[in-house]
Amino acid sequence: MKIAIDTDKCIAAGACVMEAIEVFDQRDEDGVVILLDENPSEDQHDNVRRAAHACPAKAITLQE
Ligand code: SF4
Repeated sequence: MKIAIDTDKCIAAGACVMEAIEVFDQRDEDGVVILLDENPSEDQHDNVRRAAHACPAKAITLQE
């Protein structure tokens, strides 16, 4: 799995961090998403899929 984020679309909702805290973080200054791991290990894949689904801005794209 490869993850891409679009920080221009991100509205700093934080849903991705709630679902996959090991893969996503948010910038302190404005809450915009930070991708911690663009190739997460297998055990993170379900969390990442939930995060992409939960993102209200559709800012997370997955390549499986
Ligand atoms: S869930 Fe989407 S909009 Fe919210 S912080 Fe994550 S990437 Fe940004």
